[in-house]
Amino acid sequence: MRSQTLTIPLFLWWRLLRELRRRGRGKRESGAFLLGLANGSKVLRFICYDDLDPHAFDTGIIQFDGSGYVPLWKLCREKKLRVLADVHTHPSSWTEQSGSDRTHPMISQPGHVALIVPNFARRTLQKLHGVGIHEYLGNHNWKSWQPKSGKVRIAIL
Ligand SMILES: [Zn+2]
Repeated sequence: MRSQTLTIPLFLWWRLLRELRRRGRGKRESGAFLLGLANGSKVLRFICYDDLDPHAFDTGIIQFDGSGYVPLWKLCREKKLRVLADVHTHPSSWTEQSGSDRTHPMISQPGHVALIVPNFARRTLQKLHGVGIHEYLGNHNWKSWQPKSGKVRIAIL
């Protein structure tokens, strides 16, 4: 899994940004899991954190309760999907990881990708310009990728 390209269909990316914007209301962080086939690297659907844990966005910074993983694993099992990545927003253009982002990976599996979208996803981005791309390597180590590195691509599919 480690250096595989993660592919996000353009229309799904737009829908995702719209949902993050709507749920963040321009004033609080929002986020979602990106799901794909177990052996694939293409995102097929997403599910927002607050659909799994209704209070995930209440404080302004994301606090996802562990119980939210239960419906997530159920969904994955039923649809034969796997969590490929997660995405969350930050208030400003700063899309590096916070200390908490680093120490609490949403999925602590090597190869998992965490995306950070700037400015509460206020702008619809055609590409990954300004988006933080962070790959979990295990043992609390991360590798950050440039938007143009090809680690993640937005594709018309
Ligand atoms: Zn963060």
